Amino acid sequence: MNNPLVLDGKTLAKQIEADLKTRVEKIKAAAQVTPILATILVGDDPASVTYVKMKGNACQRVGIDSLKIELPGNATTEAVIAKITELNRNERVHGILLQHPVPGHIDEQSCFNTIAIDKDVDGVNTHSFGNMAMKLESFKSATPLAILTVLKHYRIEIEGKEVVVVGRSPILGKPAAMMLLNENATVTICHSKTRNLAAIIQRADILIGAVGKPRFIQGDWLREGVVLVDAGYNPGNVGDIDLENSVPKCSAYTPVPGGIGPMTISSLIRQTVEAAERKYRLN
Ligand code: NAP
Repeated sequence: MNNPLVLDGKTLAKQIEADLKTRVEKIKAAAQVTPILATILVGDDPASVTYVKMKGNACQRVGIDSLKIELPGNATTEAVIAKITELNRNERVHGILLQHPVPGHIDEQSCFNTIAIDKDVDGVNTHSFGNMAMKLESFKSATPLAILTVLKHYRIEIEGKEVVVVGRSPILGKPAAMMLLNENATVTICHSKTRNLAAIIQRADILIGAVGKPRFIQGDWLREGVVLVDAGYNPGNVGDIDLENSVPKCSAYTPVPGGIGPMTISSLIRQTVEAAERKYRLN
């Protein structure tokens, strides 16, 4: 009988947090400062409110401060950019997170591109993406970094494997594909205009679900022994892969909840700690 490996992100995130706590203590001792992650929330979308709260709680657990900025839902692009510019100049702030998605009237990418790259701990600035793609030093988009961290921790071989990424958003599918390419996978990216999706997914040794549609990817599209990474998180605590009928075919999978979600927060906090370490030349 199939006994797939559970790629447990929740436990791994706890282990990483314990290490980060020690690193934060070293920063405090050496530089006499407490690192600060500034979070900007525009509007009051309930899911975004929850995510920002969870990120603030994670800061607290590792000993860093969070500076919570709330802007009204009718804030303009200029107002968001002005706030980010102010945070870029604030010497006490080490990382800046603009919670995605912002209301539709705001030019999100212009806001992301305003974040100074040495404070871009969520890896959303176009320059951070470019540096990552060229294998230069950069902060990485948090969810793709979470995916790579989980795969490496559980020693899932990436080099030479057929990886199919379903989704090409700037914060998830596209950077995940690039990071996996940099690990020498053979990567196919699928999106809403892809034809014969099931046939492409059938080729995958590793499948990344980043679609934003509950239980969209079906078990009968999968090759036996596939490694399933479900980055999706939809209402009702379900991912983008129909895990119920997919798990019997796979060799390993990330659960939802408890897989990529907690590791995304851990990646953000890790990069905030790294930003502070770089500033004080402690790494
Ligand atoms: P998004 O911006 O809506 O992008 C969805 C992607 O899926 C798009 O590239 C879209 O293609 C593609 N797509 C839509 N319908 C498709 C179809 N029928 N066949 C193939 N591809 C299709 O979403 P996102 O921000 O990347 O998020 C994706 C999922 O990840 C969501 O469930 C979200 O909640 C989750 N997420 C989780 C975390 C975390 O912390 N765990 C963080 C971020 C996101 P087009 O480009 O052609 O439109």
